[in-house]
Amino acid sequence: MVLLRFAPSPTGPLHLGGLRMALYNHLFARKHGGRWLLRIEDTDMSRHVPGSVEGIRKALEWAGLNYDFGPGKEGTHAPYFQSERLDLYKSYATKLVESGNAYRCFCTPDELAETKGRLARKGSSASYDRKCLHLTEEEVGRKIRAGEKHVVRFNGSEVPQRHQPTDLIFGSLKDAHASLATDPIILKTDLFPTYHLASVVDDHEMGITHVLRGEEWLPSLPLHLDIYASLNIAPPTFAHMPILLNPDGSKMSKRHGDVRVEDFIKRGWEPDAVLNWAVLSGWGAVHDTPMDPKAESTASFVPDSTRVMNLDEMIEKFDISAITHRNTILEASKLEYINRHHLMRQLLSPNGLDSCANKVHSQIKEVFPTSQYTTVDIIKQAITILEGRLTNLYDIPKHAPYLFVDPDLTTEEAQSMLDNVPADVYAAIIAVVKNKLETETEPWDELDILRILLKERDTLSLTTKKFMKPLRYAITGMKDGPTLADIMRVLGRERTLARLK
Ligand code: GLU
Repeated sequence: MVLLRFAPSPTGPLHLGGLRMALYNHLFARKHGGRWLLRIEDTDMSRHVPGSVEGIRKALEWAGLNYDFGPGKEGTHAPYFQSERLDLYKSYATKLVESGNAYRCFCTPDELAETKGRLARKGSSASYDRKCLHLTEEEVGRKIRAGEKHVVRFNGSEVPQRHQPTDLIFGSLKDAHASLATDPIILKTDLFPTYHLASVVDDHEMGITHVLRGEEWLPSLPLHLDIYASLNIAPPTFAHMPILLNPDGSKMSKRHGDVRVEDFIKRGWEPDAVLNWAVLSGWGAVHDTPMDPKAESTASFVPDSTRVMNLDEMIEKFDISAITHRNTILEASKLEYINRHHLMRQLLSPNGLDSCANKVHSQIKEVFPTSQYTTVDIIKQAITILEGRLTNLYDIPKHAPYLFVDPDLTTEEAQSMLDNVPADVYAAIIAVVKNKLETETEPWDELDILRILLKERDTLSLTTKKFMKPLRYAITGMKDGPTLADIMRVLGRERTLARLK
């Protein structure tokens, strides 16, 4: 059975790139009937940010990416924090030293800087001259007894039977060993391992069959394969995912908009939509085609509808051999399109309206803290009349604040609605509608409000536009929105009449 791992470092909140890695691990594992675990790579204490692990777990849970083993889900591979596995790394480092595949280096930072400078002056790009490789056993023993600090370096010249680096996405890597640094450090003076040793040891000890990680680790693959060969253990299969880029080709960063998963949660995007959006970058051999091939704008993006997928459908369609090795661009405008589709699907599912209304209930209460109309029932009606306009459930307050609080009639937008409307015409429109509605005895929900409005329009001999706009002004203060009759129905008799008064 395949076993994969998502192995973030707890250096801050989970970013979109990390979520995408977790997603691809999840898809690969589930597609092959396998499992995946969450491993926390916390061997660099200087970069540790408290609270990161909780944040990562919360983000994964929100996305529905449920790992099989990891913090909170103990299994045979525990512990899942690398800082709790230090003895293991030390024993592997010792094994490598004993077999001559690693050695202890006592050079101080000053000596190393001096060495690097000397090598550079000779035109070499190497950072180390392997001085300590030539220390005798006695010299090493003496230095250790004298308490001299040291690191353990991998001995790159003693690798038995090198593996040819190959990758499921990037294929066979030619001359990959040529760019390796000279004898990289695998165990630091504080006895913490570097990523290279820790990841190899853990992937082996945990029985990982496939390592799916970011492209930034591709240059380290030859070194990792050398460590496997030196330990005489079989490496897992590797797949490196191309990194995410902004539309301008730069590496994705906060400067270009949201990158933290928590920002997407706060903004109210549907988890499946965010996953769908992230998975499409790199997905398949097919490229997104704008509706108008000449259009520069990404707003015209229309992905083929078969690519709007929930998590189960992504698993079904996942095929690692189709992932592109090109850098992949993530465009914000696509998320809106995809979110709208996921929202519509959800609304059409059994009890979809209830679950959507419950989902935004607290957000709407937060936006209108003093309103007594932020009930689930009104929110349900709001969603129903706004449906075609909604890209994101969290946009309800933006689209229809007047359903929850009195409209602000002083805004520029509201004022412009009365441009060219003579005061007497305005007064007449409001008066006829108010009087008519006041005398209606039928229950509000059964009134055909639209028919009533159109009849009053006829009595004043106005066009629909000329009649409705001033009314819309008085009731909503906003130019655009659902049919006025629908809005009035949701508002109810009292609120509607109060606004007309
Ligand atoms: N801890 C590494 C990182 O945060 C993960 C690399 C891996 O997946 O092996 O980038």
